[in-house]
This record gives sequence, C-alpha cells and structure tokens, in this order.
Amino acid sequence: DEHVVILGAGHAGGTAAAILRQLGFEGLITLVGEESLLPYHRPPLSKASLRAEPGKAPTLLKPAGFYEASQIGLRLGIRADKLERQSRTVTLSTGEVLQYDYLIIATGARPIKLQVEGSDLDGVMELRTAGDAERLKNALRAGRRLAIVGGGYIGLEVAASARALEAEVTVIERDLRLLARVACPELSTFFHEYHAKQGVHFELGVTVSGFEGHDGRVSGVRLDDGRTIACDAVLVGVGAVPNDEIARDAGLNTGAGIFVDLEARTSDPAIFAIGDVARRPIPHYAHVARLESVPNALEQARQAANAIVGGPSSTHEVPWQWSDQYDMKLQIAGQATDVDNVLLRGTPCAAGFAIFHLKGDRIQCVEAINSPQDFLVGKQFISARTNIDPSKLSNPAIPLKEAVI
Ligand code: FAD
Repeated sequence: DEHVVILGAGHAGGTAAAILRQLGFEGLITLVGEESLLPYHRPPLSKASLRAEPGKAPTLLKPAGFYEASQIGLRLGIRADKLERQSRTVTLSTGEVLQYDYLIIATGARPIKLQVEGSDLDGVMELRTAGDAERLKNALRAGRRLAIVGGGYIGLEVAASARALEAEVTVIERDLRLLARVACPELSTFFHEYHAKQGVHFELGVTVSGFEGHDGRVSGVRLDDGRTIACDAVLVGVGAVPNDEIARDAGLNTGAGIFVDLEARTSDPAIFAIGDVARRPIPHYAHVARLESVPNALEQARQAANAIVGGPSSTHEVPWQWSDQYDMKLQIAGQATDVDNVLLRGTPCAAGFAIFHLKGDRIQCVEAINSPQDFLVGKQFISARTNIDPSKLSNPAIPLKEAVI
C-alpha cells in the first residue's frame, strides 16, 4: 500500500488527511502531531475561546470518531525529528521510523518570542495553541491589567476579547499605526478609534526594552522611552516564524518557509508543504509569500491531496482572510501590492464600509468591514480581472455590479 505521512496535525494537516479519503485515496495515512489534541480550529483562540468557560475543549475540525472510521493513523503528542529523503523515512521523537511514499509537511508556525530581559517571567505569554489560550483566559478578569505587545490581528482580537471580560488593556506597538504590515492607513485609523472608544489604551511608536517582575511574575513592561506600563499579564503577539527546520535540515529548498509550487510540491517531488509553513506563489500577483490563514491552509491541503491522487489540479483562489473584533467582521481579499489608487466606499463606521485598492481600473485588494457583499463581489472582480469604473466604485449608492465597464 502507498503510505502518505503528514507532519503536523493542525488545520492544514488534518484537512489534507480528510481530503485524501474524500478523493478516494485507499493507501495508508499517518498523521503526526506534536500537540496531544486532535486537529482543532485555531481562529477562535483569540476570540470566542477567551470568553468561554474555563476548561472548555477547543472545537475540533472533525469529530473524534472520524479518524478511526476513516482509517487515518494518529501519532499525537509526538514530534517528527528527522527527515531522510534518500530512504524516504521520518524519525519520530518516540524512535519510531515511518516510511513514506508521499510526505506532507504541515508543521505551521510558532510565535516569535521577544528576546528581552524578563521574557521568561510568569505571565508573559504568547498565543498559538489551545493550552496558550487557556493560560491567557485565566489572566483575563475584570479589572486585571493586560499589556499586549503588538498591534496586529492577534493583539487586537485579544484586546477586544479582554475588554468584553472587562480587563484593562494597553496595546504597545512599535510602528506608528496598528496593523501596519497588513492593512492600509485608513483601516488602521478606523480600528484605532474603535478600540479606543471601547476603552483600550495605546502606546504607539515605542519599543519594549524588557519586562519587570515581582517574585518571578511579570509586573510591568519597560519601554525604550524610559516609562514602565504596570500590568498583571502580558500577551506578546509580534508575528510568527515557520517551523521549517525539518525541511531545511533535509536539504529542501527553504527560506523563511518551505518553497512550493502551485500544487504545494516542494523541491522534492515526493514531498509537499502546506499551510503556514509553506512559501508559495500567489496567483494573480507576481510574488511568492507565506499566507497565515485558514483559507490558505485549506486550499493547499486540497492541492497536495489532488496531486497525490493524480486528480485535476485545483483552481486557484484569490487569497482571503478575516478577523473578528467586537461586533466587527473584517474580510480581506487580494493583496494590496502594486497599487496606484485607494478608494473608500461608504463612511468608516461599524454599520459597514469597504476600502478598495486599485491598479488602473482593476481591483487588487478589498478590505471590507461588516460589508460581506463588498467583500464577495470585490473578490470575484479580482479573480475575473474585471475592469471597473473607480468613480462608481466609490459611490455606495451604486451597486458594485454596475461599476463594471
Ligand atoms: P497549525 O494549525 O499551527 O498546525 C501545525 C501543527 O503542527 C501544530 O499543531 C504543531 O504543534 C505541529 N508541529 C509543528 N512541528 C511539528 C513536528 N516537527 N512534528 C509534529 N508536529 C509538529 N486565520 C484566519 O484565516 N482567520 C482568523 O481569524 C485567524 N485567527 C487566528 C487566531 C490565532 C490565535 C492564531 C494562532 C491563528 C489564527 N489564524 C487565523 C491563522 C490560522 O489559524 C493558521 O493560518 C492555520 O492554523 C494554519 O494551519 P497549519 O496547519 O499550517 O498550522
């Protein structure tokens, strides 16, 4: 029997196993995961999970009985330590050696730890796993002071969840604006004002130089301007690095992620890499990037499974993602690279608006707040390379479909 070994039992790995069976793959499948839990949904960890009652298990991707019923072998709580491509084997932390015909690397990414004094103090946390979310939740109570380092999606989502629990929140961001890496200045301003209205404090344009502690527990965040922000707990959300070491050590083509093609195949035809760990070409855009999103994990899981069963190659989606903060749903489609015009559709408010990024008369990216229609139609227009009239696009009284030229 052919054997597909999947390293990483997260969103991408768990989905790849399920899709292989859906596509009729009849060989052996083994899913190896360092976490001891069955594959689960990570996005709620910064959102609903923080507001759920303590001890509530994360939402599983598939019911517990699915894996046995689908004859998917599980090695959970076990790390893959070594890949040897010549013999097509993977050595696990238990000493077990798995022989593969195809290997799918879906090891995800891990949060960056701040390399400053005091980062080992109790109460300085990162957020990636269900265990991390449980620890963070225990620190979020009414009146408790939470300092969040990093004004990206995870930082802002945790800020919103913490305010719902009436914790005091200060967000510390090195850049002069929030979401600087991923959103346009107009959107940054909107989020800044919205969070400030909900009582979040901001320190922008400052760097963390260390953490202060008391009896081994964090008590403050020291800033490079000499001030200290007093706190009871810290969440560090300053980005993630791919878990690509196992591929790099085996001589695969890597560079802050594992390079793959549009079928998720690495430089070794028997090995695929999917999800947060993969550095992939972005269709519709002339560049290569790591996409840290669930839609990307699902798309690449399908690509790898299709390639393994020899099915037709899947269609390529415009990259998209979402973020939930308070009563706001942000949905983004496309990439705001190579843009010469940014247009607002509607007035920035929680009732709904969108920001379109254009190159000439084509949409490159849409950022929609509580405006699913703008998101969906904008995404279709990006995909179909539709030419649109910018002056109609910026008038919310005109339906988007009528902006087509
Ligand atoms: P993961 O889900 O991280 O899975 C990788 C797994 O591999 C992990 O369980 C890890 O322990 C395991 N592993 C690593 N190394 C080894 C090894 N050597 N051997 C065995 N196992 C190993 N995306 C969205 O689209 N929308 C959102 O709203 C959103 N919110 C998020 C909120 C949070 C708090 C986080 C952390 C992420 C969020 N994301 C969101 C991103 C999304 O969760 C990821 O893009 C997605 O989980 C990537 O899936 P993956 O399988 O590549 O990685």
